[in-house]
Amino acid sequence: METEYDYLFKIVLIGDAGVGKTSIVRRYTDGIFTSAGIPTIGVDFCIKTLQIGSSAVKLQIWDTAGQERFRTITQSYYRSADAIVLVYDIGASLTFRNLPEWLAEVERYAGNSVHRILIGNKSDRPDREIENVMGKQFADENGMPFLETSAKNSENIDALFLQLAKTLRDT
Ligand code: GDP
Ligand code: MG
Repeated sequence: METEYDYLFKIVLIGDAGVGKTSIVRRYTDGIFTSAGIPTIGVDFCIKTLQIGSSAVKLQIWDTAGQERFRTITQSYYRSADAIVLVYDIGASLTFRNLPEWLAEVERYAGNSVHRILIGNKSDRPDREIENVMGKQFADENGMPFLETSAKNSENIDALFLQLAKTLRDT
């Protein structure tokens, strides 16, 4: 029988409300972007399968359904996550200053060994508040890779998930 995939990884997106988590997932899985707010789609996760060399890597991408607004993300959301995508908005400094709180949640619920990546989203914004080097420094201090992305113009969206898939496959 033919196997559908060689690897399956659960990827979990977190970060303040409004940073663009849902937009990143929609851009990646559906290739679309909308500047009107994106409502909850009522599913727990999206699926995308990538071909990396000879292996089919299936990504199960979990997006919050707005729970982050009320700080009600629970342990079950993080359960058996292979990677955490921690997102802030480069044009909203509060979302950057809140990163330590999110990291504390990750340690509490997902443990220390889970792979983590830091994402500064909305790199297309002309009204930047957080410089690239600040994101890089925070990521370095916390042992994470770092990328700036834009769900609006697609910058680094494919690269983000490809990098994650490769790293997880090779781990
Ligand atoms: P979430 O609450 O983290 O899921 O954020 P959303 O994906 O709902 O996005 C919140 C708002 O930011 C929406 O109005 C999006 O259109 C906008 N947005 C998301 N990503 C980007 C981006 O890369 N660039 C710009 N300029 N706006 C974005
Ligand atoms: Mg959302």
